[in-house]
Amino acid sequence: MMSPRAVLLIATAGWLGLAGAASAADCSVDIEVGDALTYSVTQITPDASCETVTINLKHTGQLPAAVMGHNWVLSKPGDFDAITAAAPAAGPAKHYVPDDEKVIASTTLVGGGESTSIEVPMKGLSGEYVYFCSFPGHWAAMKGTLTIG
Ligand code: ZN
Repeated sequence: MMSPRAVLLIATAGWLGLAGAASAADCSVDIEVGDALTYSVTQITPDASCETVTINLKHTGQLPAAVMGHNWVLSKPGDFDAITAAAPAAGPAKHYVPDDEKVIASTTLVGGGESTSIEVPMKGLSGEYVYFCSFPGHWAAMKGTLTIG
């Protein structure tokens, strides 16, 4: 009879095997947000073989977008301050995303029960990027990193 520890090791090895297989072919990321200032995923490391990465953002909360809207905006780390400084003026009609080439990719703003997704081309991107919610006041907490290569 196997000890509980042996069973645990086998379970861990199986999980790692599955995770490895999934990341090689999987070029999409599911991120959940709710009525708190949190992304369910704060680190994205796409496989080098991915030509695009699809971000699926799902708001599982109750509050409407006007009160607790969330989006997903990608930029270089050095452009974070400029984009977030301009976000409030962009306003809800533009999903709080400034019309600026520093914005590499951005989704629409979603409220409770809504989903959005975006396909981000990986061509030309390398190194570390930041993603964040540009709803005013959210970006300090709702922030993650996307690392390529
Ligand atoms: Zn938000």
